[in-house]
Amino acid sequence: MHKTPKEETVIPTVGHWMDGQLIEDTARTQPVYNPATGRSERQVALASVQTVEAAIAAAEKAFPAWRNTPPLKRARVMSKFKVLLEAHADEIAALITAEHGKTLADAHGELQRGMENVEYASYAPELLKGEHSRNVGPGIDSWSEFQALGVTAGITPFNFPAMVPLWMWPMAVVCGNTFVLKPSERDPSSTLFIAQLAQEAGLPPGVLNVVNGDKEAVDTLLRDPRVKAVSFVGSTPIAEYIYAEGCKHGKRVQALGGAKNHAIVMPDADIPNAVNALMGAAYGSCGERCMAIPLVVAIGDDTADKVVEALKVEIAKMKVGPGTDDRNDMGPLVTRQHYEKVKAYVDSGVAEGATLVVDGRKVQVAGHEEGYFLGACLFDHVQPGMKIYQEEIFGPVLGVVRVASLQQAMQLIDDHEYGNGTCIFTRDGEAARYFTDHIQVGMVGVNVPLPVPVAYHSFGGWKRSLFGDLHAYGPDAVRFYTKRKTITQRWPSAGVREGTVFSFPSSR
Ligand code: NAD
Repeated sequence: MHKTPKEETVIPTVGHWMDGQLIEDTARTQPVYNPATGRSERQVALASVQTVEAAIAAAEKAFPAWRNTPPLKRARVMSKFKVLLEAHADEIAALITAEHGKTLADAHGELQRGMENVEYASYAPELLKGEHSRNVGPGIDSWSEFQALGVTAGITPFNFPAMVPLWMWPMAVVCGNTFVLKPSERDPSSTLFIAQLAQEAGLPPGVLNVVNGDKEAVDTLLRDPRVKAVSFVGSTPIAEYIYAEGCKHGKRVQALGGAKNHAIVMPDADIPNAVNALMGAAYGSCGERCMAIPLVVAIGDDTADKVVEALKVEIAKMKVGPGTDDRNDMGPLVTRQHYEKVKAYVDSGVAEGATLVVDGRKVQVAGHEEGYFLGACLFDHVQPGMKIYQEEIFGPVLGVVRVASLQQAMQLIDDHEYGNGTCIFTRDGEAARYFTDHIQVGMVGVNVPLPVPVAYHSFGGWKRSLFGDLHAYGPDAVRFYTKRKTITQRWPSAGVREGTVFSFPSSR
């Protein structure tokens, strides 16, 4: 039976934000699910090549005036923007939870870390001061300044829909660039909402544009010659592709990829403290963090036994359910497809002979039978050859590997293809110093399980966790989003006027 137009359920569409306007676009769409219910409450527009080109054109048009806006005025927009983010924090967190599934407290946490990047961006006049040397030669002064690139772009993952975009565009725009952002199509609403707040804070139309979409939108950004730099955060296979394709098209690219972070537990560690830290690092946000800890490397069987026993006790206390209920510690996985993928990893761990100490596969949440809930899983006796050791699972699955010495543990970490984060739990300062000095990983914690750098340092992994030269946000972002120009100047006067010189100028 046909429904009359009035009876038809209209699913709201998350569109694009371009030149200061919301663009409705239903030509090509895909459903966005609430992971706690398994229902689709909205759909997201998938931009065509033409739509992305229009966004790039808006960014290009806005660039000359924005480039010439004094850095202090650009920074003031960021200060106002931060106030608006604080004022709307509850709405933003609710949007994140409704599409990503993480708990509201966790959504507030990611927003807070994102706001710290906005705060750092508001130091722009200080960050862009450049370097000046007087009298590099007789009557000659020289200075370096950091000039904007033009139109820049960012492509972001589902797991931090507020924070990761805030790693990118605030720093890009305070440096005088304009920006086109392509958020994850799985949870796009909070990102779009935040972009509109930036305009309310005074960001001129066209300086920040958001296009929702998939590979078609991404490829357009990578190939369009008007886009000068691309920042990417996501899985390693896509990061590799973005880096190669962007570089091929003459762009500056930084592409942050996946991870498999190890935590070493030494025999002298404060075990209850380490286990509490590991619980949050392994199961917080359902393990969907690039700085999550999915592997514990315990030194000695005695340490491993104590860690496994204590983890079992803590896991039994965990509450799994919708992120909107503040009694829950862990929400659902992001999509049904991802849920199936993580469950298949648990099956493979069992098949490969690891000991499944806690099996979260049977977890059911009453009233949410269609939600993508997986309980915490804990494996013991994980071996380096196993798929659950080697590959990024991105779910609530923690594996314990048993080794005999710190050297063996460090060798395992160094041999792994990823090098995003790692940490050591110990009371031995000498061991910790040796570890931080030698380990081949970009971000290292000592008794700190998630060593995510604060906004005034920079974030990035080593090996196949990052493609490019500079890390994300903080001081490296100023370098990434600007090009250095060095000017050498002399004003001839009677005192310093020289005759013709044919030899190479030097300060001989
Ligand atoms: P993803 O790689 O699937 O998607 C990331 C972005 O790339 C999305 O915007 C998506 O639309 C786009 N994309 C997907 N397939 C594409 C294709 N074939 N061509 C062009 N673009 C494509 O990643 P995800 O599942 O959204 O996020 C999880 C991954 O991100 C994990 O691997 C995690 O470790 C990683 N991550 C890394 C960091 C870091 O800082 N290193 C931070 C957060 C997440």
